[in-house]
Amino acid sequence: MARPKKTSTAAAVVRHRPAITRGADEFGATYRLVCTCGRTGEEHQVRSLARMDLDRHLTTLPLVPEQQQCRDPKRHDRRAWEPCELCEHQTVLFETAEGDPTARLAHSITPDTIH
Ligand SMILES: [Zn+2]
Ligand SMILES: [Zn+2]
Repeated sequence: MARPKKTSTAAAVVRHRPAITRGADEFGATYRLVCTCGRTGEEHQVRSLARMDLDRHLTTLPLVPEQQQCRDPKRHDRRAWEPCELCEHQTVLFETAEGDPTARLAHSITPDTIH
């Protein structure tokens, strides 16, 4: 029987930090959604329309699985739509420690270091 093994796929994460940039055309101020993922919205005369583009962009993003949701968004610099590898890692460690503490201890302490 093959043991179930967790493989960590370190895929490149595209960050979404949408912002509304302010520009100007010959008629006055314009507002536009610009996201760090490369997405840009149309230029609008009204800020709330650019804001709607922003909200719409965020709703199209995939939901973050529960174990990847950040529990300390301020410290980890995460947004609601971003998976947090720090918190995910902590969950994995916690589960490992709880599931088999002796195995983890045996792994971290090697007899060779005691001389
Ligand atoms: Zn984006
Ligand atoms: Zn976190």
